[in-house]
Amino acid sequence: GSGIVFRKEAKYVPRRAAWELPDLPGGLPDVYKDVKTVQEFFKELPSFKVKSFVGKNGTGSLTRKAFLNKLEKLFEERSSTYILYFAGHGSSEGGALCVEDGNVTFEEILSVWEAHQEKQLQTTRRRQFFVMIADSCFSGALIEKLKQVPKNKREGLNVAIQAACRHNETSNGGVFTEVFVEKQKNPSVQFKWQQMFKEYCDGIDCEECGSFYNEKCRNCRHIRREHDLPASKNDIQHPTYYCTWRADQHQIGSHTILFYKRQGPVEGIS
Ligand SMILES: [Zn+2]
Ligand SMILES: [Zn+2]
Ligand SMILES: [Zn+2]
Repeated sequence: GSGIVFRKEAKYVPRRAAWELPDLPGGLPDVYKDVKTVQEFFKELPSFKVKSFVGKNGTGSLTRKAFLNKLEKLFEERSSTYILYFAGHGSSEGGALCVEDGNVTFEEILSVWEAHQEKQLQTTRRRQFFVMIADSCFSGALIEKLKQVPKNKREGLNVAIQAACRHNETSNGGVFTEVFVEKQKNPSVQFKWQQMFKEYCDGIDCEECGSFYNEKCRNCRHIRREHDLPASKNDIQHPTYYCTWRADQHQIGSHTILFYKRQGPVEGIS
């Protein structure tokens, strides 16, 4: 397998996370930490190569063009499975990944993959897979988009998406990635999401009004609009996945990647 890791700088640093990583110069500790966690995890897997790591401490910048170029380059590696991991903001418009100068959409990512598939089919018939792991808000929307691809085309895509949350949820930095990676190492470990989330939210109340969320406060509205916090402490994300070859795990060399879903009330019903 080959993988690529991206990060996107965000502007809001939860105070608690900033205390834990005091050395980061004005960066985004939880995203940085997530990327490191994933990078370390994949680096240790036999037969797995982490191809590139984009973004430096506090200066991580990635344009749309660079993102799509890196992806194209990744697919030029000889590999049976390609993994794209993204930590950063996602757009409420189709879960598009937010980068420096705009968004990278599901359709754009898919077309880079399809172009690769077409080229590859001319040389070898070896089956290749593309796994996208998105720790970003509304990332479940990427799954909805994948499911909307017409069946006959979808079945040949060999694409899996692991999303940190459902299409209408935000992803809270540090929570999904930590669980996902721990589950890889120890599938039976149970996580107390309510508890983790409570800890995560501790100390990130609005610095202007002091509440977790007050819709009358401008700063609260700003935080909700631009950053990764839900409106209520009870709205905790539900990671989910979809795999066009209908599996819940995927073998890479001697290692198996386990997809992860957090059970919860059926979407749309609360
Ligand atoms: Zn802000
Ligand atoms: Zn976000
Ligand atoms: Zn406020």
